[in-house]
Formats: sequence, C-alpha cells, structure tokens
Amino acid sequence: MSEILTNYDIKGNYPSILIDGCKELGISLSDRQTSQLVQFYRMMYDRNQVMNLTAVTEWDEVQTKHFLDSLLLIKVLDLSKKMSVLDLGTGAGFPGIPLKIVFPHLDFVLVDSLNKRVGFLNEVITALGLTNIQALHGRAEDLGKRKEYRESFDLVVSRAVANLSSLSEYCIPFVRKDGFFISYKAAQISEEVRRAEAAIRILGGKVSEVMTVPLPGTDMERSFVVIRKENRTPSRYPRKAGTPSKEPL
Ligand code: SAH
Repeated sequence: MSEILTNYDIKGNYPSILIDGCKELGISLSDRQTSQLVQFYRMMYDRNQVMNLTAVTEWDEVQTKHFLDSLLLIKVLDLSKKMSVLDLGTGAGFPGIPLKIVFPHLDFVLVDSLNKRVGFLNEVITALGLTNIQALHGRAEDLGKRKEYRESFDLVVSRAVANLSSLSEYCIPFVRKDGFFISYKAAQISEEVRRAEAAIRILGGKVSEVMTVPLPGTDMERSFVVIRKENRTPSRYPRKAGTPSKEPL
C-alpha cells in the first residue's frame, strides 16, 4: 500500500474523492482497484494530449464525473451476480472500464464506432491486466444484426450517446429476452422518456423505472432509465447505419 500511495503522491493523484464517494455508494475499493483507476486516468490524460478522448481531464472532476458517475449503476441494479454487459458508445471507456475494474466478475464488451478510441481501450485493457473484456470497433446498427451479439447480453448500458429513441434502437437489439437496457441520462428526463416510449415498445422493451440519484462529491444528480426486454426485437431493427439517428422511431 505504501508504495502505491507514494506513486499517487508523486503525480498528485491521490484518489480521496473517489475513495470517499465509493464509500457513500457502499463500495470499498481494494488497493489494486484504486491503482487501476489511477493508472487508467493517467493513460487517458496522456493520450488526450494527442487525440480527442474526453473534455473532462482534471483529476478531481474525473473522479466524480467519470469514475463515480459510472459506478452509480450500483444504485440501480444488483451487480454482485455474474452478467454479460455491453457498453454501447463507450468512448474513452465510460461507464464500462470503471465498472469492470470495480466489479471484475462482470463480462464486458465495449463498443465504439471510432477505431482510435477502441485502440486506446485495448491498450488500457492490456496495461491494467483486465480479463473477460473486449473492445470492439463498429456501429451499433451493424453489430446489432450479427448473430453472435444480437439478443445475447444480460445488460446493455450507455452514457451520452444519443437521444433515448435512437439509443433504444442501438441498444435493445443486443439485450436478451428478460434482460435490461439501462441508459445513463440527465436528471430531467421525463419528456425524453415519454417521447421514446413508442419506439421502446416496438423494439420489445418496456420502461420499468426511472431513477434519479445524487452524484457523490457534487451537487449534481443523474437519472437512469431502466428498460426491461419483454419481447424479441423484430428482425428489421436496427435499421441501416445512420437511420436511427436521422429518423428516430
Ligand atoms: N460513453 C462515453 C462516450 C460518449 S461520446 C462517455 O459517456 O464518456 C459518444 C460515443 O459514442 C462516441 O465515442 C462515438 O464514437 C460513439 N457512437 C456514436 N454513435 C455510435 C453508433 N451508432 N455505434 C457505436 N458507437 C457510436
């Protein structure tokens, strides 16, 4: 532990906001998990100098807006069981990488349509020694038609990718029947949910809950839209790449 602490101190990355926030969420981080998160931050910070990964780069803000925010899922779902999880439009790895570090028994596929970001994620996965996690380059509209991915995940999560109607067409096809799609959304979400309800139904889902939870260490809140997959998705969805965002259902 002392060696790890020294490492944080050198770069001024002591993770006190993260550790306190995790306590509030009922998560006690091991030394290994803490150092993995710090290492992930350093890799992201360094790479962000040469490619566009994230607008949030200050250590304090990364601890709240990226790490704790990703982990807020624990307020919505029991994460203690083994599950296959897809993170659609993961970008620099949110919420997927923090969730994988803290809940290593979850199996993850991280998808993004920008190959450079997928390349970065593969470096992170190797450097942190993460297993049962794969970063995949592709668009939701294409991957969601492929047999090996379609209707094969217990849970799909997504943060900051698209409005809920388009996002549902990206995500619900990947969810197995009786599985869940959980979208990370802004606190004020009722109107967007109301507008997406018809689309969600067409795709085989049903909104089971909208939960608003405080983000530790801030005065902000985040909402989660919990969608349960009740029926299989008709084979014509997702429509071809670009259509779900141009002409939302
Ligand atoms: N989830 C991350 C990144 C959000 S930015 C976070 O919260 O920080 C949105 C990301 O979604 C981008 O990296 C973009 O490349 C990806 N994306 C957008 N449309 C997509 C699609 N149709 N299929 C796969 N990835 C997509």
